[in-house]
Amino acid sequence: MYDVIIIGAGPSGLTSAIYLLRGGLKVAIVEKNYAGGQMLETNEIENYPGSKLIAGYDLATSMLEQVEALGVEMIYDEGVVDLDGLGVNVDGKTIRGRAILIATGATHKELMVESEERFKGKGISYCATCDGAFYKNKKVAVIGGGNTALQDALYLIKGASEVHLVHRREQFRGSNLLVERIKKSGVNIHTPYIVKSIDGDDKVRSITITHRDTNSDETIEVDGVFVAVGQTPNTKEFDLEKDQFGYIITDENMKTSKPNVWAIGDCRAKTLRQIITACSDGAIGAESIIEYLNK
Ligand code: NAP
Repeated sequence: MYDVIIIGAGPSGLTSAIYLLRGGLKVAIVEKNYAGGQMLETNEIENYPGSKLIAGYDLATSMLEQVEALGVEMIYDEGVVDLDGLGVNVDGKTIRGRAILIATGATHKELMVESEERFKGKGISYCATCDGAFYKNKKVAVIGGGNTALQDALYLIKGASEVHLVHRREQFRGSNLLVERIKKSGVNIHTPYIVKSIDGDDKVRSITITHRDTNSDETIEVDGVFVAVGQTPNTKEFDLEKDQFGYIITDENMKTSKPNVWAIGDCRAKTLRQIITACSDGAIGAESIIEYLNK
């Protein structure tokens, strides 16, 4: 029996664990992959206070070490969560908590072009930090107009021979700072274009994009396509109140629609999804749980 079981070891889950453990509670984190969440897919982090520049992996490692030093129990398994019974089935046995804290984050969306499934791992990637090294001196395209796409393009241009950034609107969704950097970076910008097809043989060879106003097509030879078109919350399994996109609705203390269940980080309905806001959610949720359980 734990006081709190946290589902997910991204920045929100790890931060909440720091606060809960320092509050004297017994805490387990159930994580199906590696601790760190999307930080592990982020090459350079420049907006986390206290570090001008830190690698995502380094920040994730240092958060995990901090939590482990405080005595968390890390359970690396895909748990089946029972929110009504406040239990998580891991490896055939059920662990229980007085509270469950959902910190499952969000996962990349797919582009939904016909050949996407066929070329996954054969030229189509969803993580520039993970796969960028395979495209040294090669030509790549990045699809999307948010901060992830802009950062991916800036990352890839360091090694690739050509980077094409394809966005469906004239205006980028990502920050002005990154847009200004892109303009000076040597990245080829294609707006407003949608991806008509991704083509190749045993691997990707080209993409064809269509101009949204003129309907004219352009084919660009590329060896790789990085898809960065947003995220879907990892909340499907949770029977909780959610918004139209599936993000869990909480109150300002991170409490969900179910008793003894809190949600924090990117899986929660909110406007800004950053490491710092994930950590902030973690701290607020943890303090709310401590106060609730102490009553
Ligand atoms: P995002 O901000 O939702 O941007 C997704 C982009 O993909 C949008 O430009 C969108 O176009 C485009 N898109 C969506 N579906 C598409 C489709 N089917 N075909 C073509 N384009 C499509 O997602 P994100 O960039 O992954 O960022 C997610 C969150 O993480 C954001 O809150 C972001 O600020 C944050 N983040 C922050 C940083 C940082 O600050 N350093 C880095 C990475 C991510 P439209 O613009 O037309 O909708």
